[in-house]
Amino acid sequence: MLQLYLCLLLPELHVIHVSDIHGGIYGHKDQPELGDIGTLLSYYQRVQQNISSNPEAAMLLIGTGDDCEGTALSGLSEIKCSEIYKFLTNVPFDMMTVGNHDLSQPASMEFLHEFQHNFPKKPFVTTNTFYNRTGERFSQPFKYQVMSNGIRVFMISLMFSPTQNDYQNTYTQNIEPTLRSLWFSEILSEYAVKSDIFLLNMHIGTLEPESHSTYKTIRALFDEFNYKIPIHVLGAHDHLVFHVICPPINGVVDKNCIATECGQMLKNLQHVVWTLAPHNVTTPVGINFTGSTATNVFPFEFDEMIVAPTHAGEGLAARFNIFPESFDTEDAIILRIQVQAKIKQVNVYQVIGASKFTYVYEKGVYFNDSFQRLWNLALMPALVFNRELQKRCYQFPITRVDNTFRKDVQQGNITLDDAVRMVPFSFNTTYLPNIEPEQAQCLYFWGNLARWNHDHDVISVERFQELFQKYKQTSNETAKIVPFYSVSNNTWEGPCYDMITTNYEEKRLTMGYKYCGITGHEPKVYPTSSGIQLTDELFIEFIKRYFNQNEEDEEFENENEQKIVITLIAALWLFGILAIAFFAFK
Ligand SMILES: [Zn+2]
Repeated sequence: MLQLYLCLLLPELHVIHVSDIHGGIYGHKDQPELGDIGTLLSYYQRVQQNISSNPEAAMLLIGTGDDCEGTALSGLSEIKCSEIYKFLTNVPFDMMTVGNHDLSQPASMEFLHEFQHNFPKKPFVTTNTFYNRTGERFSQPFKYQVMSNGIRVFMISLMFSPTQNDYQNTYTQNIEPTLRSLWFSEILSEYAVKSDIFLLNMHIGTLEPESHSTYKTIRALFDEFNYKIPIHVLGAHDHLVFHVICPPINGVVDKNCIATECGQMLKNLQHVVWTLAPHNVTTPVGINFTGSTATNVFPFEFDEMIVAPTHAGEGLAARFNIFPESFDTEDAIILRIQVQAKIKQVNVYQVIGASKFTYVYEKGVYFNDSFQRLWNLALMPALVFNRELQKRCYQFPITRVDNTFRKDVQQGNITLDDAVRMVPFSFNTTYLPNIEPEQAQCLYFWGNLARWNHDHDVISVERFQELFQKYKQTSNETAKIVPFYSVSNNTWEGPCYDMITTNYEEKRLTMGYKYCGITGHEPKVYPTSSGIQLTDELFIEFIKRYFNQNEEDEEFENENEQKIVITLIAALWLFGILAIAFFAFK
């Protein structure tokens, strides 16, 4: 299919997009057909080979952040994520950026600040993210590149505007003021008139309002030059998979824009081929320049990182007219061997326990097979609840599904890697101490409304209280949905509540204080009974201590064997008696 483009005379730009790798560079045990870092490198090199005979074709590989937090290789290395960044230097990315899961790891960010210079193409761009120690941008603010076919590419990378800046050694500026700043307008006036395409690389879910508003702002800024520049919006963070023509502005469809988002953990990739034609522009102040317009925007439909054909599509190998077995390049095979050696060294596949049941992470706490329920009603009392604190107030876990779990606990053996993939987040256990029952209930309601997520849509304290009073009368409704924050009982009859949360969530929950009339009660580090504080480590310890079913299973088997022996003996006795009786009566 790629050959189709070789006969065209207009320049074309291949944009390959991956994001949210989350340490997932070594494939998936439960879906072995899905790709790994080797598949990505092979794909890149196959496209490169394929277009090498066409001087009109060029290629860019873009990563949109969140390389950290997700697997044992990422989470258990001495500096979290460092092994992942190291392996990623083997893939020739043209532009990369950081996401919230990179920024939330201070040691990783300190490591990456120096280490980013080892990436061969200097890909890191952080347009609105700064490094506190230097006060400078964490990476270069933008990238401008003239491709081998003459296409001039202008690229920026943005991180979503923070609810609060919770990152320890980095700082993210709000997007709108960044793009409306004098600094950006100077860059724009220099580069807008000598660019053929604009890559808007954003660690923001493509369907989020901020993604749309940012694209509108960029379009408006280029309108000041009277230039409908082709724009590729590269989204991330929500792990969705799609490519779509950008949403209309004022009812007008923008054919010079496409948006892509490409899932997570190298399960998917997006590949879009832009064909560009020269386009003369006259600015409102009468300056003439030549830009580009898109004559064709072609996204490949099959977006799974799967080499061989499947029910869903032809597979990636078919794109190059090669057999799936010959898809991997030599470099990819060598890289994969290196990754496997590291995995063996870290021993990520050691079995740490076994589960008799499956616990589903997307099920509310009221279901027996809910992961939240397991966490709140089993892990919390076993490893967290503090006996001394318990004498005074109810110990009350308040657990956000989104930022605690990422996968179901599957029935069967659990490896170290499985455990980290289930709970990849490394947050400290903290608590909001001594909250009155009515206020605790109110805060839980506040959290589930996710009001902190809607600070652009400010709600008055009175209006919130109205909603809360209504909610109290229909509180069973929450049982039917997965709440943002789960709750382990809803009687609210304790004298007071210690609301156990994490250093990440406490910032969001305390935003609800003013709505629930809470003053003081500053969050504190929770002294856990096990002495283990971090969420990922708590889960690993829980599996090791309480899900070690092997011995019990053996006993169970022995018991069964005993039963069989007893039954056999009984049968023999019966046979003997019958035989005696038979002969006696004969
Ligand atoms: Zn993210």
